[in-house]
Amino acid sequence: MSTTQLSSEQVIALENKYGAHNYHPLPVVLNKGEGVYVWDVEGKKYYDFLSAYSAVNQGHCHPRIVAALTEQAQKLTLTSRAFYNDILGKYEEHICSYFGFDKVLPMNTGAEAVETAIKLCRKWAYEVNGIEENEAQIIVCENNFHGRTTTIISFSNDEDARKNFGPYTPGFLKIPYDNVGALEEMLKTEKNIAGFLVEPIQGEAGVYVPTEGYLTKAKALCEKYNVLFIADEVQTGVARTGKLLAVNHENVQPDILILGKALSGGVYPVSAVLANDGIMNVIKPGQHGSTFGGNPIAAAVAIAALDVIKDEKLAENAEYLGKIFRKEIAEFATTCDLVLSVRGKGLLNAILINDTEDSSTAWDLCMKLRDNGLLAKPTHGNIIRFAPPLVMNEEQLMECIAIIKKTLSEF
Ligand SMILES: *Cc1c(COP(=O)(O)O)cnc(C)c1O
Repeated sequence: MSTTQLSSEQVIALENKYGAHNYHPLPVVLNKGEGVYVWDVEGKKYYDFLSAYSAVNQGHCHPRIVAALTEQAQKLTLTSRAFYNDILGKYEEHICSYFGFDKVLPMNTGAEAVETAIKLCRKWAYEVNGIEENEAQIIVCENNFHGRTTTIISFSNDEDARKNFGPYTPGFLKIPYDNVGALEEMLKTEKNIAGFLVEPIQGEAGVYVPTEGYLTKAKALCEKYNVLFIADEVQTGVARTGKLLAVNHENVQPDILILGKALSGGVYPVSAVLANDGIMNVIKPGQHGSTFGGNPIAAAVAIAALDVIKDEKLAENAEYLGKIFRKEIAEFATTCDLVLSVRGKGLLNAILINDTEDSSTAWDLCMKLRDNGLLAKPTHGNIIRFAPPLVMNEEQLMECIAIIKKTLSEF
């Protein structure tokens, strides 16, 4: 391998030739990140408004998190769970008290954590709730995004995600999102329901924020019908929406909490499933696991990443800046035909572009934003998600808002 710096064009050509075409990246090639900024190989600086799908909440290459990584990497990287290591227990205690659960099951990616939650829910259904074996059903929402495994895409309704990947895993029932009536109807009419798996805000679907009270009512229904309320906070969790968890906006405590992405500040793949003993204790040795799950580096990195969130008050900052962002863009939208509306919570926001779902307007806008020094990506057609690292300050945010307004005005 050559050590000479490749140009953006050369990098893109290499990926195109040798990499599977399972992504369609914006044409920008990055080789450095710091805080809210990233740089491309030609040295151009950008504001990152995707934060690796909300994994980099703590900002790029946060020195405390990187220090935890490098320090641990020089001591011990992997033992597997066949033996104990001296940091996993500390991390488990830390994350459990941090989010208020009895126990954690450590995994690596978001999809793995979702799979873990599904298995946990099913086992609980059979061993605690008395549902007949192989009959458990889990309610999910339309337009969900929970990851890419065969089981998870089985209950997606995104044709790209599903088509020609069957046969699909059974045991899932779909209802419209943000619809308490549909949930109650399903709980009333269907038998053997074990859980309700939901994103507190649908991120990939286009930052769809449910009606206030939806999560509280859904949780109450789950309690009434004795089914587990499973919150997928892989994208919304860890301060992104202006609270530690998006469910905290409604003071809802899930029965099972799924975390990933920013749990490591984007430094390492770390995910987790949290639950209380009455649920988690159904998992016994040999029944679930992962070679890398709970490895020493992951544990050290996640402790640091969670500490940064609290010490730097990133939830409070996201809440504060998010309000400014939505107010500014909403005001601007009244003067700009291109923008229909802005929505979101904290620093998880989206702008709806005034064009058809299949138009290239959102993509073209992202290209212009790139030219003007800000990186964002369309999600589902005509929606652009804006999710900068939470370490942004007000001055930087105002500069970004100016870039967005200028780009929209000139389009
Ligand atoms: C990103 C995401 C996942 C999947 O996480 P991976 O680490 O990509 O497997 C699951 N659920 C939600 C809500 C997500 O945003």
